[in-house]
Amino acid sequence: MNILIIGTGYVGLVSGACFSEFGFKVTCIDHDKNKIKNLKKSIIPIYEPGLNDLVNKNIDNKNLNFDTNANKYLNKSDCIFLAVGTPSRRGDGHADLKFVFKAVEQICLRVNKKIVLVTKSTVPVGTAKKIKNIIKKYKKDKLITVASNPEFLREGSAINDFLRPDRVIIGTNDEYSRLLLNSLYKPLNIRQVPIVNTDTETSELIKYASNSFLATKITFINEISVFCKKTGTNIGDVTRAMGLDKRIGSKFLHPGPGYGGSCFPKDTLAMSKIFKDHKIKFNIVDSVIKTNDKIKENLSAEILKIIKANKISKVLFLGLSFKPETDDIRESSSIFIIKYLLKKHKNLSISAHDPVAIPNAKKEKLNIKYHFDLNKSFESQQMVIIGTEWNIYRSINFKNLFSQMSSHVIYDLRNIYIHDKEIVKLGFKYYSLSSK
Ligand code: NAD
Repeated sequence: MNILIIGTGYVGLVSGACFSEFGFKVTCIDHDKNKIKNLKKSIIPIYEPGLNDLVNKNIDNKNLNFDTNANKYLNKSDCIFLAVGTPSRRGDGHADLKFVFKAVEQICLRVNKKIVLVTKSTVPVGTAKKIKNIIKKYKKDKLITVASNPEFLREGSAINDFLRPDRVIIGTNDEYSRLLLNSLYKPLNIRQVPIVNTDTETSELIKYASNSFLATKITFINEISVFCKKTGTNIGDVTRAMGLDKRIGSKFLHPGPGYGGSCFPKDTLAMSKIFKDHKIKFNIVDSVIKTNDKIKENLSAEILKIIKANKISKVLFLGLSFKPETDDIRESSSIFIIKYLLKKHKNLSISAHDPVAIPNAKKEKLNIKYHFDLNKSFESQQMVIIGTEWNIYRSINFKNLFSQMSSHVIYDLRNIYIHDKEIVKLGFKYYSLSSK
């Protein structure tokens, strides 16, 4: 089986590496020449644990290949996955499908054999129909059949998520495509991974419904956490007890500074728009979007208030990525708060440490200083804000920290040290999401 993947980002590269690990011949395409040049030299463009080894192993055994131009592979492929970005359309929140449709046009122009075209990108309900219309326009509908196979991997544990998924969704109205996709995922049978076979529209909806639900769960616990902070009730005990209820489950019940990342913000917005297009209001998700924005703003305003009240002029952020184990800073809460503080407090000096996300953060051209060495980053700081729960921030030596800092305020946006009484004893002013 020959697989072509268009779009070699977080999803395309991981999917390509994992399919090649199954033994299929995979070519990953990206129009970013630099990215492909580096990949050919085994330089991985993203930080994702385990990806380096998996890519190199499969380049070496000739199962995995990279190119900037899809044309020479189109008529050698059995299956083409679209893994291009589907960002929010500027201004209105709809998913922008320009990369998807452009790739479909490119494929239609040249394909002259039977091929299954699969959307792995997150696309609104009805996109497969629109793709079919483009294929018809090129009179290729006898050759190119369409399927939806949304991806659920999480950055930071993407390889494990792909190789051991909770489920695989195969959405198509075409029998040939269904059989081919089921055979692609056959290597997962040994792990008894459930395969949900459905139609294309339902498959497209499953992805948005899942992400909207998870964003709702996160926002729910974030609001409970605000209540706990106000009333002095114990958020840790609440989440633990709630999570023990099998109907609720313990995942996605940790309070944080609002959800971010490359998926939840854009997918909730798109879901709201999809409902509106069908003249229905998705009240819960509309409220989740507004509440999440408000959570980030309220937190930023609270931090600014603390900064002013304590006459702080130097702040250190620990963590820039939207979550640990990734270099992805898209919609990261740390970046949101930094931008807010830079705008509202002209004399504030901000610096930041992150184990892997600094190169991406630099592209934002923020007026801040970056530290690559955590141990050297605390010198003469007045306030430390823990923005991302990277493991290296879980065992900070606060005694050492105290002597290095010139003023002693901590804001722990991940509640990592909420039970650590030593911090206050040492003389720090400690703030968290659930304690004043
Ligand atoms: P990304 O921005 O990391 O990668 C997209 C890549 O596609 C880029 O490298 C870009 O250069 C390339 N590209 C765009 N048009 C192209 C074309 N015509 N030909 C060749 N290359 C092209 O995006 P991502 O995070 O991998 O997300 C891709 C899709 O998967 C999105 O729809 C996203 O919502 C979905 N998704 C993402 C995740 C995640 O954790 N990142 C998880 C599940 C689903």
